[in-house]
Amino acid sequence: MTATTPGLVCAHHHLYSSLARGMPAPPETATTFQGILDQVWWRLDAALDLDMIEWSAKLAALEALECGTTAIIDHHESPNAIEGSLSVIARACAEVGVRVITAYGVTDRHGDDGARRGIEENRRFLSEGGRGMVGIHAAFTCSQSLIEQAAALAEEFGVGVHIHVCEGPEDTDAPQALDGLTRDDWLLAHCVHLPTEHSLAGTILHNPRSNLNNAVGYADPARFSNPVALGTDGIGAHMLESFRLAYVMQRSVDVTAVPDTAWSWLETGWDLVPEARNDVVTWSYDPMDPWHIAFTPGIMPVEIEIDGERVLADGAPTRVDANEIRAKAREQAIRLHARL
Ligand SMILES: [Zn+2]
Repeated sequence: MTATTPGLVCAHHHLYSSLARGMPAPPETATTFQGILDQVWWRLDAALDLDMIEWSAKLAALEALECGTTAIIDHHESPNAIEGSLSVIARACAEVGVRVITAYGVTDRHGDDGARRGIEENRRFLSEGGRGMVGIHAAFTCSQSLIEQAAALAEEFGVGVHIHVCEGPEDTDAPQALDGLTRDDWLLAHCVHLPTEHSLAGTILHNPRSNLNNAVGYADPARFSNPVALGTDGIGAHMLESFRLAYVMQRSVDVTAVPDTAWSWLETGWDLVPEARNDVVTWSYDPMDPWHIAFTPGIMPVEIEIDGERVLADGAPTRVDANEIRAKAREQAIRLHARL
């Protein structure tokens, strides 16, 4: 019994974070969202080099494919390996056969030079024809002038900005900083602490597992009038699992909620990466209906066609050796963890 759907879209991912699993415990236990950034992610991203980024992206792309996700919207940061990083990510995903839209998350955390190089990496990638957006880490780590530069660069290339907004209480000034700059093609990740009534345009990217893991609260995205799409924020790209979690999280605050709402958030991904609609995923289950999927664990893709090419057959990738990617990623993870 099989059924097909278009390729699923992960609308917010960090491909660089796949090597984080199993990393050594941080020197101090983080007790706040800012603490989690300081102790985990900002130590990890500073230790990345281009080899680590390459194998991290390949592992993440492979794992996406194995879950029926054919398109990833990536948000990247590697302050000590900025130049060329977006091309490394694009090539890694192309090798596996997964679609990717990437962006470098600019920030003032690393001084004027780091900010300038982040802007330049977005510009270089876009001007070479890369499928990208302009990335901003978050308003609370950027000067107003850097935010405006990034917005202008996006305008220049006719693409949107991909930015974290009000993920934790540290970023509640974001609506003021971004007022008048956002457009419909912007992607606003998280919005947990964004007031229901706000002036920001763009698609809100809901990442329920990450929000739970960081103890930042529930975004309750059904309250917004903006379109909503589902992401993972770097914890894999298993979009059926994200859908199931988004559904029960909504249900936890509204017992009348139905799976169709969370499923519509998954479908918004096809507005962001329209080509994924033409990808064909054959699943191990029939019917692929939100009410069935919400209560059926273990549904997996059997076969996947992306752009007419069969990239997964009998649950295994056709273009790459999955064992080799896992082994090489493991080697890079050991190097990375030794630097932390
Ligand atoms: Zn994120």
